[in-house]
Amino acid sequence: PSSPAAPGFAMTPIGVIESDYPDKFGIPRQPGLAPAARASLVLTPPHDDPLAVRGLETFSHLWLTFVFHQSPERWTPLVRPPRLGGNARVGVFASRSTHRPNRLGLSLVELLEIDTRRGVRLGLGGCDLVSGTPILDIKPYLPWAEARPEARAGFAPEAPPLLPVTFAPEVETTLAKRADGASLRALIHQVLAQDPRPAYHRRTLGGDDARVYGVRLRDVDVRFRMEQAGEPSWMHVIELVTLR
Ligand code: SAM
Repeated sequence: PSSPAAPGFAMTPIGVIESDYPDKFGIPRQPGLAPAARASLVLTPPHDDPLAVRGLETFSHLWLTFVFHQSPERWTPLVRPPRLGGNARVGVFASRSTHRPNRLGLSLVELLEIDTRRGVRLGLGGCDLVSGTPILDIKPYLPWAEARPEARAGFAPEAPPLLPVTFAPEVETTLAKRADGASLRALIHQVLAQDPRPAYHRRTLGGDDARVYGVRLRDVDVRFRMEQAGEPSWMHVIELVTLR
């Protein structure tokens, strides 16, 4: 006889992410790929008690569990990882797909600071989460137990290849005028180097892709296009358009 289904669990987020990523398009596919990405985890009542983070400052990295709140609740057993060109299918549980049962995500991020002056705000580096992502839990990362460099990583054996990135002179001028210009430049560089174009365009257009794309980072829409003078191609930043 089959056992009855286990009861479900209702969960309440402990906090919310405020990040350099106003929307999910263009966000690197794992944490740490854009170390210049800054984020804050703002704990929400009743989880914003400073006692709850006592001792956390002695850890450099944290695991965050969260909900892919911008993904549909619908899921299918097979998904098409961008890493495989968006063509081949693997099981959802063999992937880090955002379209999964329970929509649970897991990211390893750097802990940069803890501010307990008003509630609790954790400064994070390398976060791969869209602003507004609800966080369910925080755990300190234990490298002696959890870092396994000898592990096999299936169809994603190494970090994705990086494309060169160039900036138009006007963009350099705009960046030079901003107080956060150096870190925004680094962020744009790290994000575009991952080739944030949709897998479909990467597959079909490749280096012949003349269209202009936009990716929103902090308060700007970064307009870029792929350039190719023979191989290899690279990403060129054409313009920064300030979001309202
Ligand atoms: N490191 C996490 C994991 O493995 O569970 C996330 C991996 S997932 C492949 C990363 C992508 O999730 C990002 O490129 C971004 O487009 C998307 N994403 C980030 N925050 C999200 C959210 N709140 N809802 C839906 N998608 C999100």
